[in-house]
Amino acid sequence: MSENEHELDLPRFSDLPLRAELQHEVEELGYENPSPIQAQSIRPLVEGRDLLGQAATGTGKTAAFALPILERLAAQRPERSRGDAPFGLVLTPTRELALQVSEAVTRYGRGVGARVVTVYGGAPVGPQWKALQQGVDIVVATPGRAIDLLNRGSLRLDALETVVLDEADEMLDMGFVEDIETLLDATPDTRQAVLFSATMPRRIETLAQKYLREPVTVRIRREVVPEGEAPKVRQTAYLVPRSHTTAALGRVLEAERPTAAIVFCRTRLDVDAVTETLTARGLRAEALHGGMDQEHRTRVVERVRSGRTELLVATDVAARGLDIDLLTHVVNHDVPQSSEAYVHRIGRVGRAGREGVAITLVPPSKVHAMRGVERLTGQPIEFAPVPTAADLRATRLARTATVLRERLVADLRDEEPGAPTDGDGVRAMLDVLAAEFDGVDVAAAAVRLLQEATGAPNDGEDIPVVALPRAGERREPRSRGGAAAGTRPPKAGTTRLFVNAGRASGVRPQDIVGALANESNLSGRDIGAIQIHERHALVEIPEHAAEDVLRSLRGATTLKGRRANVRRDRGFAGAGAGRGRRD
Ligand code: AMP
Repeated sequence: MSENEHELDLPRFSDLPLRAELQHEVEELGYENPSPIQAQSIRPLVEGRDLLGQAATGTGKTAAFALPILERLAAQRPERSRGDAPFGLVLTPTRELALQVSEAVTRYGRGVGARVVTVYGGAPVGPQWKALQQGVDIVVATPGRAIDLLNRGSLRLDALETVVLDEADEMLDMGFVEDIETLLDATPDTRQAVLFSATMPRRIETLAQKYLREPVTVRIRREVVPEGEAPKVRQTAYLVPRSHTTAALGRVLEAERPTAAIVFCRTRLDVDAVTETLTARGLRAEALHGGMDQEHRTRVVERVRSGRTELLVATDVAARGLDIDLLTHVVNHDVPQSSEAYVHRIGRVGRAGREGVAITLVPPSKVHAMRGVERLTGQPIEFAPVPTAADLRATRLARTATVLRERLVADLRDEEPGAPTDGDGVRAMLDVLAAEFDGVDVAAAAVRLLQEATGAPNDGEDIPVVALPRAGERREPRSRGGAAAGTRPPKAGTTRLFVNAGRASGVRPQDIVGALANESNLSGRDIGAIQIHERHALVEIPEHAAEDVLRSLRGATTLKGRRANVRRDRGFAGAGAGRGRRD
């Protein structure tokens, strides 16, 4: 094949210091040229340098760190033997990403025979423990489970040569900072450290300063955008009381009718509720759960790509690493935890000069968070009213009129050559009805039936309109008064759980929310006040959910890598019980 000038400008894999086995795998995978992040990272990483990389999913960052680890591993190979402590550790925020990275590393490492083990929470620890015992070259792990296995003496970090933090910003957002530091502190000073992050908030810089030595820095924009075609994302926020969020979202999406959208929810429970609400409106929505296997996920994503599903409803966790080029909308059922997380989410649309839309449902208490996003991005966010029931009726009718008009035109065209045909007998039936009723009344009844059949919901209940606080005016959460001090009875309708781990074990509120939301069907929002005491913690949850939660936890959970018992707080059997705890 003749190389033209343009191709000569591109970096080539053959110029990178990677052995033949690795070059071969890359070729087999059909990669023609290294991506920019690979072109910039692979050589310094093979040379053993530390690296700080700003790059998002879809840039080829996995191969950028995996190939050098494999190259360095293979160079050491003759000296390594079965039962060795790991050579490399890759930390990822989620199980999904861990599995994805692990699959990629295994694939790239086929030719050098790398032994890769994946460890993550939410699965029995036994098999992972055993896999580590059998000798491993590269461990891909989520931080919580890595700590757990480190504490059990099963994950050995004393001979580690390379550690990679993948999607470090996500890990920090998920509250893993202490776990990450504990893990890094357990590695030898001489190891190479690599940090990849889609965004570079101050916390990431601090982490990098603490753990990277004279790192090479690489910054890759998600896509090379031709001048004048910067990503365009139209950002709209709908102000709505929290209790009406899901209903409002249904209306907004029915009015907007995205071609391919991802709807982010905070918890699995929300994912289910939202999917149900959207489906009831006749929208084609599908849930994407962290619990689904890869095959199922792939099928769901395929249905979005092919247009059979319009809306993918997912938690951040389940959506990690998903790369769907055709997305037109990113929808936030809840305001994300941080401005960076918001920017990360909306980065999925508006690529390559196409216009993308970001929609966010915003409770009054989060308006200031959206202003923070505006400051961070320098892009305006428009606040719009939630469509009213009357707006939706009008939209629906306009849509029906369009469909009918198209059908009428098509039918007329088909009939032109000969006499009108009535193969299906519809006209004959209508002739009979028209003799009895007015023609327009008949058509009106048919349209109503059609709308009912396609799931037009009853929007009778109106969603309260909330006034936008004026600039500078910030709504403070209701006064907490003296409530935080001491132990008070749980709120009406809620009950309290007692967890036998507290401050002394380093337990923080987010750990408790994480554990409960992960291991039960409880949504983060269902979880009420959390009080962390020295050796125990108290968590308020809805009374009606208590039995379910206790059943799914089977009396215990893992907090900070340790078992912790969870039971009803006997101080208060239910709402309204007297004051005072037994201890
Ligand atoms: P990542 O950003 O690591 O999630 O990779 C995104 C996708 O790009 C994956 O499907 C990789 O298989 C693919 N990929 C990685 N490097 C290259 C390359 N040099 N050429 C073509 N595709 C690549």
